[in-house]
This record gives sequence, structure tokens and C-alpha cells, in this order.
Amino acid sequence: AVILGIESSCDETSASICIDGEIFSNVIATQAIHAKYGGVVPELASRAHQQNIIPTVEEAIRTAKIHKNQIDAVAFTRGPGLLGALLVGTSFAKSFALARNIPLIDVNHMQAHILAHFIEDPKPTFPFLCLTVSGGHTQIVLVKDYFEMEILGQTLDDAAGEAFDKTAKILNLPYPGGPLIDKHAQNGNPDAYKLPEPQIQGLDFSFSGLKTAILYMVQKEEKADPDFLKNHMDDVCASVQSRIVSILLNKLKKAAKETGVKDIAIAGGVSANSGLRRELLAMGERYKWNVFIPKFEYCTDNAAMIAIAGYQKYLINDFVGQDVGPLARMHM
Ligand code: ATP
Ligand code: MG
Ligand code: FE
Repeated sequence: AVILGIESSCDETSASICIDGEIFSNVIATQAIHAKYGGVVPELASRAHQQNIIPTVEEAIRTAKIHKNQIDAVAFTRGPGLLGALLVGTSFAKSFALARNIPLIDVNHMQAHILAHFIEDPKPTFPFLCLTVSGGHTQIVLVKDYFEMEILGQTLDDAAGEAFDKTAKILNLPYPGGPLIDKHAQNGNPDAYKLPEPQIQGLDFSFSGLKTAILYMVQKEEKADPDFLKNHMDDVCASVQSRIVSILLNKLKKAAKETGVKDIAIAGGVSANSGLRRELLAMGERYKWNVFIPKFEYCTDNAAMIAIAGYQKYLINDFVGQDVGPLARMHM
């Protein structure tokens, strides 16, 4: 079966062609416009999606070397995300399905981040644990089957990606700051600055205290040295990254111990972080886990993960009607 996948939940317009479970194209149009506002502006995102969606889909079809008549079903991100942004992808998918008289498949964006692990080998086996870390979510998920997922723990305030981006703002780095902190951290000393580890019960997370601690630390240091950030950016970034990573991995370790599950995966934009990838691999060696880390292009928002999730739904005839609408909040 040939599946067209569409992603438009935030600031990436993406389209992908999946043929019998294999990805043949994954075109991503990133919206540069938001950088100068220091974050995603919803109205601008909707407008950019409208401008990008048709060329992006056309390029995905062209790259996959198929004709649009060959598409058997269209899968789209229904939620969670920005409502106006989701509406563009949803409306496009509905029109396309109606015009071509093919089935329509709704996909949960957070499930899709996890199902990105089924794009390439090696694939995890059910049940596995997935630490989903993105711009809006931080969750430890017990994945029992493709569409049977249980959230064991999640953030009580900021998401891990938000912690990276908000910290970057404090450090005067442009949006999105996560990748820049990662870059600076590679040349820094992770033990240079002591940052607190929040004491949260169970498998939940909290990142808002960390953000405040960093703000106070920077303010204090700048009193002594106005050029503190300029002189110590690498060490600050390495310390911040190392703390975020240890908060994430300590809970993941706890979840693995409590469930006895040995197949451990990460997903979402923050799984592109080099410190997280390295430490997870080291932890996996130590605890004899099978660790699964997605390829970079399948970590942040992309339509390949929507197409692969759509393919799994196609196999079980899980379709939706033309009355479907986007959902800003959507449960797993
Ligand atoms: P959600 O999936 O929760 O709806 P989103 O789709 O906006 O949110 P993603 O696109 O999955 O999130 O991930 C974007 C986030 O990943 C941003 O916060 C960004 O800073 C972060 N990120 C990307 N690369 C890195 C990196 N190398 N290190 C740290 N953070 C990173
Ligand atoms: Mg994004
Ligand atoms: Fe995402």
C-alpha cells in the first residue's frame, strides 16, 4: 500500500510517502520566520503551512517517484498541537482523500514520535519503554502495541525541549536553543556549575525549578563578571545539558527497574541531543538494555513518522470519516 503522510502540528510542514512500510520520501519545510520572535507564533505558523503544504506534498510525491493516482490512503496529524496549524494539514488531507476517493487516517503526533522506531531496523519488540522528549512533552511511555500505550510518568510543568529552549533564552541564544546548547556543551565541562536535581515522586518530571536556578546563577555570576556568559558559555551549556539529561535518565532507569522491561527507546526532538544519546547508550551497556535511538531526521517533527503510523492503521482498516477535525489536545 502507498500511504501519503502529512504533518503540520507546529512549525514544520512535512509530507512523506510510505510504500509497504518503507519510507520513500520525507520532505520537511522548516519555518524560519519564528526565529526573530524567539518562539513559534501560531498565526504565522498557520499561514506558512498554507503556503508550504502543496509544494511539500508535490515534492514528496516526486522524490518517491510515484504518481498521485497510486496513493492508497492519506494519513495526517490530528493532534496534539497548534489548532490553526493542525487545521491546515487536516483540511488538506480531507480534501485529498475526498477528491481521490481513498481512506483517511488520523494519527496522534505523540504516538507517531514513538512509532518512528518502526521506520528502520533494528525495531524494538513489544512491550518496550519509550522516553518521549519534545518541545511540548516529556513522557515515559510503556508501549504495549502499535496503538496501545500507557503513560507511566510525565512532566508536571515544562517539557524537556522547553527547558532547553527557555534556558537558551536566558543565555541569549536564538530560538530554537536546544541544538545550540548541545553544540556549546560539546566543548564545555559538565561539572563546572552545580544545578539542582528536583525531588519529584514516582516517574514524573519537573523542569521549572532548574530554569529558575540557572537564571539566578547567571545573574549572580554577571555581578562579578559582566562578560560571564561570553566567557563561560560552553561550561554553562555543558552543565545545563548534563543536568537535564540526568533528570531524564534517572527516571528512565527507575521505570526500567519497576517494569523489568529491557527494550528502551527515546523519541521526540530532544532525542537528537548528543549528550542524551551518549549517556543513554552508556546506561544501556551498564544495565544490559537494548537501546533504540532514532535517526536524526526522525527525531524532530517529520511526516515519515505519520506515514508509518498511518501504514499500521491501514493494515487494520482503522479509518476516519470526513467529519473528523483537529484536536489541540489529544490523548494517547
Ligand atoms: P511536541 O512533539 O511535544 O508537540 P514539538 O513537535 O514542537 O513538540 P519536536 O519537534 O519533536 O517538538 O522537538 C523540538 C524540540 O527539540 C525543541 O524544543 C528543540 O529545542 C529540541 N531539540 C532539537 N534538537 C535538540 C538537541 N540537539 N538538543 C536539545 N534539544 C533539541
Ligand atoms: Mg518544531
Ligand atoms: Fe513533535
